[in-house]
Amino acid sequence: MYQIIDGKRISKEIKDELKEQVAELKKQGREIVLAVIQVGNDPASSVYVGNKKKACEYIGIGSLSYELPEETTQEELLSLIEKLNQDENVNGILVQLPLPKHIDEDAVICAIDPQKDVDGFHPQSVGALCIGQPGFLSCTPAGIIELLKRSGISVEGKECVVIGRSNIVGKPMAILLLRENGTVTVTHSRTQNLKEICKRADILVVAIGKPKFVDDTYIKEGAVVIDVGIHRGENGKLCGDVDYEKVAPHTSAITPVPGGVGPMTIAMLMHNCVEASKVGTN
Ligand code: NAD
Repeated sequence: MYQIIDGKRISKEIKDELKEQVAELKKQGREIVLAVIQVGNDPASSVYVGNKKKACEYIGIGSLSYELPEETTQEELLSLIEKLNQDENVNGILVQLPLPKHIDEDAVICAIDPQKDVDGFHPQSVGALCIGQPGFLSCTPAGIIELLKRSGISVEGKECVVIGRSNIVGKPMAILLLRENGTVTVTHSRTQNLKEICKRADILVVAIGKPKFVDDTYIKEGAVVIDVGIHRGENGKLCGDVDYEKVAPHTSAITPVPGGVGPMTIAMLMHNCVEASKVGTN
């Protein structure tokens, strides 16, 4: 029988730990504030932003909300970020992606003070991750490492395969698995023999962005499977990049969608906000 890795429960556990820490910090007179910027009103982004604000409220982190119109210029956005960089009362800055086409996402990410980069997307944060220095970790891959640890699954010495090489999931995931002493292979859209490579994996992380792409023919018997994908099917039901029904019986542990990786991303964002409040206080 396989283990269902319960991201909902584990993320709640993390949020409750953070809630206690925040209460302690409050007793010392320290308030934590996250600035959340959304440009335009993409419905999926609005849901994500709403969930992030709710998590802040639960933990006791203050949130400042900037809902900017679609036609906001890059200069206007950059000048707001600069203002927030300078604001001592703001600990973390989050710009919800994707941004409208006329705004250069890289320029926006680079404009955020790395000490307030709670998404972990700034080149300085990514560089620190690569060479094992302290810095903010990208929330989804950091959440996956936390899921594995809190489910008693060790990465050390394991054959790990990541499908996807995006800057926000695939690449940082590979580096974090490497940091945990896994033997890591990164696969992508130009990979040949994808199935054969996946079949070697003790731990398979799937971040391909295609509904139910991975079925049982990709799985080594007893593997751990982490499904990062989120898609809404025609019936309105959520599904992942993995065909759960076909794959689960062949695994030793698997994350469901919903209730797997998704809730962990927000929990790790909250973790980063708490860490951001400690920057420069030691
Ligand atoms: P992306 O589109 O940026 O990257 C997809 C990757 O898959 C690319 O690197 C590409 O090379 C690879 N790929 C595409 N086709 C392939 C193929 N046929 N074979 C092998 N590799 C292939 O996506 P992303 O931002 O990394 O997100 C991936 C999925 O995870 C999406 O479904 C997204 O919605 C979801 N996601 C979930 C969370 C969460 O919190 N759970 C966070 C971020 C992304």
